[in-house]
Amino acid sequence: MILGQVADRRCAVENQCDPAVRSEGDHVKMDLIKEVFLRVPAEWRGLGVIGGSGLVFRDGYASFNALARFEVPIMEASDIMGCMCGSILRGVATPLECPLFGHACNTANPIGPGMVSREGACFIWYSYP
Ligand code: SF4
Repeated sequence: MILGQVADRRCAVENQCDPAVRSEGDHVKMDLIKEVFLRVPAEWRGLGVIGGSGLVFRDGYASFNALARFEVPIMEASDIMGCMCGSILRGVATPLECPLFGHACNTANPIGPGMVSREGACFIWYSYP
C-alpha cells in the first residue's frame, strides 16, 4: 500500500487490515480464545479495574498458567508519587502538566512508565519537543 502511494505520488492514512478482516470477526479464532481463556476484571495502571478486560486460563488449560506453576511474586501496582501517567493515559492531562516532567523525570532518569517506554507519551513529548 505504501509503495502504491509512492507510485501514485500521494500520501494517505490507509488501513491495511481492510481486505483481511471481517467486521464480524474470525469465529474460529474467537471460539478458540473463549475455549482457553475466561474474561475477568483486571486492574490497569491509571484506569483502575475494568470488568472483563483481563484473561485467565480456564481450568482445562491450567498447566499453561505460569502463575500457578511457578512462584511469581505479585507486586501491588502502587502509584508513583507525583507521576501523572494515569491522567495522561486517560487524555485528561499532557506530560507538560506533570511537575516531574523534564526535571526529576526524563529519558535518562525515567520515573514513570510513560517515560520508560519509547512508545510512552512522556518519552515522545520529551524527545520531540
Ligand atoms: S512518566 Fe514522568 S513525566 Fe510522565 S507522568 Fe510519570 S513522572 Fe510525569
